[in-house]
Amino acid sequence: MKIVAAKKIVAANDAIAAGNRARLRAANVFTVNLLGSPGAGKTTLLESLSAACDRLAVIEGDLATARDAQRIEKLGVPVVQVNTGGGCHLDANMVASALAALELDKVELLFIENVGNLVCTAGFDLGEDLRAVVLSVTEGDDKIAKYPPIFQRADAVVFNKIDLLPHTDFSLDRALADLKRLAPQAEVFKVAARTGDGVAAFATRLRQRMER
Ligand code: MG
Ligand code: ZN
Repeated sequence: MKIVAAKKIVAANDAIAAGNRARLRAANVFTVNLLGSPGAGKTTLLESLSAACDRLAVIEGDLATARDAQRIEKLGVPVVQVNTGGGCHLDANMVASALAALELDKVELLFIENVGNLVCTAGFDLGEDLRAVVLSVTEGDDKIAKYPPIFQRADAVVFNKIDLLPHTDFSLDRALADLKRLAPQAEVFKVAARTGDGVAAFATRLRQRMER
């Protein structure tokens, strides 16, 4: 019985995600689901991307507070904060509610910053076109091997805080070998979101995917 209930929840989520996707495609919006641990630098990456992207909007997912949304709002980017009230991931229904609060005809590129979590965020389709996982070098190079599903479902992995590499024991070779073995489909980007280094290459790639 418990297994049936879990399947039903995912099935319901998939149906709502399909609705979100249809709505976003109809409005010509390219949508990125941005995932990663708390503190990986997801919001900082968005701050940095906002300088390189036009007609941007952001949905921020957090358990509590509007702190990330406030950071995005300061940049003049339309933003909706979703508070999950303790929930550890965004689901398609939460995103559907957030979409209703955005003027989609003014948006070309939508980022959904998921709740900081490397586990169950991976299991919920939100209606996105692309999934990107931010992994900072301060988290340790074992995360890909320890949390495979999120990476296996990613279109892109953004190694962040790359400027701090000399101050850590993070082995980029080991992380890249794990990624090649477990998630060969994921495109790799190396950035320092705080300084903006490498962010333009990621923005360019998103634009290419968008135009396809
Ligand atoms: Mg954040
Ligand atoms: Zn969760």
